[in-house]
Amino acid sequence: MSVYSQTLTELATGLEAGEFTSLELTAALLERIAAHNETLNAFITITADEALAAAARADEARAAGTGGTLNGLPIVHKDIFCTRGVKTSCGSKMLDNFISPYDATVVEKLAAAGAVVLGKTNMDEFAMGSSNETSFYGPVRNPWNLECSPGGSSGGSSASVAARLIPAATGTDTGGSIRQPAALTGTVGLKPTYGRVSRYGMIAFASSLDQAGVITRSAEDAARLLGVMAGFDERDSTSIEQAVPDYLAGIGESIRGLRVGIVRQHFDAGLDEQCGARVKDAIAVLESLGATTVEVDLPNLDLSVPTYYVVAPAECSSNLSRFDGVRFGHRAENAEDLEDLYCRSRGEGFGDEVKRRIMTGTYVLSAGYYDAYYLKAQQVRQLIADDFKQAFADVDLIAGPTTPSPAFKLGDKVDDPIQMYLNDIYTIGANLAGLPAISVPCGLVDDMPVGLHLVSRHFGEETLLRCAHQYQLQTDWHKACPEAFK
Ligand code: GLN
Repeated sequence: MSVYSQTLTELATGLEAGEFTSLELTAALLERIAAHNETLNAFITITADEALAAAARADEARAAGTGGTLNGLPIVHKDIFCTRGVKTSCGSKMLDNFISPYDATVVEKLAAAGAVVLGKTNMDEFAMGSSNETSFYGPVRNPWNLECSPGGSSGGSSASVAARLIPAATGTDTGGSIRQPAALTGTVGLKPTYGRVSRYGMIAFASSLDQAGVITRSAEDAARLLGVMAGFDERDSTSIEQAVPDYLAGIGESIRGLRVGIVRQHFDAGLDEQCGARVKDAIAVLESLGATTVEVDLPNLDLSVPTYYVVAPAECSSNLSRFDGVRFGHRAENAEDLEDLYCRSRGEGFGDEVKRRIMTGTYVLSAGYYDAYYLKAQQVRQLIADDFKQAFADVDLIAGPTTPSPAFKLGDKVDDPIQMYLNDIYTIGANLAGLPAISVPCGLVDDMPVGLHLVSRHFGEETLLRCAHQYQLQTDWHKACPEAFK
């Protein structure tokens, strides 16, 4: 089997057995990336020299009997994670010239475990988007159909994993940006519990919602990476001090007796019929493995999108105020005075969607509207979190669709923000409530992948990963590969 079609777990076995070295593996993947990136536009930066050097170090460590749990294994990072000495653009012209002086905690931890980083992936500008079309570097294409979006905002990560350019990529999820692109490209996307993985060095979009996670081809690989990425970090004030379990240890156990909640509101008119049918097939597989299904209600589900689009812009308008053309990032030339410098630097550096969010955010936070919008949204956010709490009194996890439909065509929704925003209807709730969730490929609709979405209680990642892994032992959807990338 060629190296590029293997999962991280399979590659780890091959490296250990001496079937190939990390240097050979890295060189082979760099070649594949070079061959396909022009078509897919999945990468903003390819770090070939750094990767080959890291791979050589990993091979030496292996020969010396040292090296961490990911020694020599290839990954890529979403370009939202700060990487020392390497351009970190966040998909924006604003940071097109930014070389980070430090590593994000996630980057640091994965490197310490021996992972080899091959590049930085394309993304929606400041992670605002669901299609990768807001990137300053242009849209990413879906390997299953080049006319379609790979989802967003982690679209470069999802496309590169789906096209077998890399077995695993980091991503971030504020309202669905790991799970939605995973669903639309037939990959696995894991968003951990809020506070489980450090946000230090991850460029902030909406700080109370942002969480780092991974896109892989198997739940087993996601478990392997989460074990390395998770844990308390004193540099992130919302990181939670709780021991990190061995996520791989329990994934082999049966899901017999697991209580799976099916949300009444999920299977309504907004869901593509065939997409719903694939998800129901997947739930039937879980039942055949001994899980029992229970109907649950999330009565405020329809309020999650409007609530999110008050809270997230409010936080982003505050977070993005630091990009002023003075300290770092894009600076307008020949400014007349300080105000002109601020206005033009921001006017030139940010794209339309980012500006739309900043304007919405400053509006809902302004003195006359704060109570009507921001405060109200915070109250509804609590109601949504309470709905989940109530549902989890009866079930261990909730299963449903990740997205309302398979991948849409590039250009189809980009001029209609509301249609674009509705793509996240099933994923946003988990962010508002801080819950962990995963999307797993569960079938094809008109030759395009769709995802099964599982959500569990806070710190319920082990349950999610076990359920997803058991599902993948029974099915082959995660092994399906787009024809042009076989
Ligand atoms: N699509 C959502 C948005 O545009 C979510 C983005 C994300 O999770 N980063 O805000």
